[in-house]
Amino acid sequence: MLNFSLPDASCLATLRTLAAERILILDGAMGTMIQTLNMTEEDFTGHGHAGCRHHHHSDHPQKGNNDLLVLTQPEAVEEIQFTFAMAGADILETNTFSSTTIAQADYGLEAAVHDLNVAGARVARRAADRAEARDGRPRFVAGAVGPTNRTASISPDVNDPGYRAVSFDDLRLAYGQQIDGLIEGGADLILIETIFDTLNAKAAIFAAFESFTRAGRRLPIMISGTITDASGRTLSGQTPTAFWHSVAHARPFTVGLNCALGAEAMRPHMAEIAGVATALTCAYPNAGLPNAFGEYDEGPEDTARQVAGFAREGIVNVVGGCCGTTPDHIRAIAESVAPFPPRKVPA
Ligand SMILES: [Zn+2]
Repeated sequence: MLNFSLPDASCLATLRTLAAERILILDGAMGTMIQTLNMTEEDFTGHGHAGCRHHHHSDHPQKGNNDLLVLTQPEAVEEIQFTFAMAGADILETNTFSSTTIAQADYGLEAAVHDLNVAGARVARRAADRAEARDGRPRFVAGAVGPTNRTASISPDVNDPGYRAVSFDDLRLAYGQQIDGLIEGGADLILIETIFDTLNAKAAIFAAFESFTRAGRRLPIMISGTITDASGRTLSGQTPTAFWHSVAHARPFTVGLNCALGAEAMRPHMAEIAGVATALTCAYPNAGLPNAFGEYDEGPEDTARQVAGFAREGIVNVVGGCCGTTPDHIRAIAESVAPFPPRKVPA
């Protein structure tokens, strides 16, 4: 049972007012921006710094553990977020996509999860506050909650279809720990993103409401699924309409799609969600499909032209970018959607 009797976080009224006036802008990709910095193992661990910057240690290599950078290279993460904010983003995502005990088990850093989320939210908050001080426009911090690397709906073992690598309760507890940290660090919203398994997302929603009860206030929730193949279904087999009906009980601030296929392939699925959802809609596609080297070559103007098409069709309230999108992409997207009014939510 989700508790709707809690007071809403004070940012919700401001967000609703802004969203009624114009299409809001979410920031771009953190992961592909971090890759361009070519950081070494020592950069990731923070070792070799004047004094170690965190007290969590692990025998696993940490190169590629992007979330750890909020503790070891917070200035670099903040600078990326600040640059996105100055490019036009209203909402900045925390660098916490994999900051659950389940995802951090790969790096032996389960014990660092609370610190990663508190620091992740604080770093984004600093970037948001700096941008607001610079130009007077409010910025909001969305605590990013990823899908984890396990699925509660599907067996990873073809010989044992009933097997599950993770349970609803495992996910609920891990997400709750993450969301508690994000709220403590100052997140304004909770963004449950890149959902390939709706059962994982339902565990995250349930955990969010438990965290809200502990915090004594309800933060706006953004829910974003991902469609990974041309059939237009999530990995756990749902159409966009079924996906909306599975998460509508959370009364999210936004629902939509991110990542995976580029904007063009996302368009019909976003149109379907826009036709049924009584929440605002949010779309943040990748910069096209990755090339053979895993790099994204779709330029800012190209991505922006496609996202402007969503705005022209009236199917979006919030837009941004996922993998491969840079501050230049976000600037181009913000400029290209500015002439169009936000989608009208069906009554
Ligand atoms: Zn992505």
